[in-house]
Amino acid sequence: MVHLRLEKLEKYAQENNVPIMQKDGIEFLANYIKENNIKNILEIGSAIGYSAIKMALVDNDIKVTTIERDIDRYNLAVKNINDFNLTEKINIINADALEVELNDKYDLIFIDAAKSQYIKFFEKFEKNLKTNGVIVSDNLSFHGLVEDETKTNNRNTKQLVRKIRKYIEYLKENPNYKTTFYELGDGVAISIKLN
Ligand code: SAH
Ligand code: MG
Repeated sequence: MVHLRLEKLEKYAQENNVPIMQKDGIEFLANYIKENNIKNILEIGSAIGYSAIKMALVDNDIKVTTIERDIDRYNLAVKNINDFNLTEKINIINADALEVELNDKYDLIFIDAAKSQYIKFFEKFEKNLKTNGVIVSDNLSFHGLVEDETKTNNRNTKQLVRKIRKYIEYLKENPNYKTTFYELGDGVAISIKLN
């Protein structure tokens, strides 16, 4: 049952160009959550709720807070979360994440919103990360363009690629985190807070 409904979301996303996490990326993340006994998750960028639902389904006592600024996607995510009976486990907020103040601390923060703002998201929300918590970043490959930007001539895309490269450097040089980059999905990084 759950399987069928997840496939429906994947199909919807594909047909409507909603950039949900790729399959191997989300499986990897779900596994990581399971193996590391992660319980409290903050997600920046819910889209239609797909990855929040996948993460919430990993275990009974997982709680996800997720933020989405686009009202149409937010509404659809609310509906999907309802359909999966996950309203008790997923708290979705309709706002620009850069304007949200949260007091809770999380085991894992998943950054998957506007790619040009990743450093801002990181610096805004790291205070909400528990000791030994992790920040996960998606789309660091950006369809392979980060490795080879000659694949596009679009100025905005090139600009975005430069910002993602800057973020990758930022992660590599950040002494407070140990970051590992994974070449799966659209490029995933896991940054473990060192103290
Ligand atoms: N995590 C989702 C996909 C998110 S797509 C999944 O894998 O299922 C990225 C989403 O981030 C988009 O829906 C976009 O509207 C949202 N977004 C971009 N910038 C944002 C911001 N500053 N605050 C909140 N949401 C943002
Ligand atoms: Mg993504």
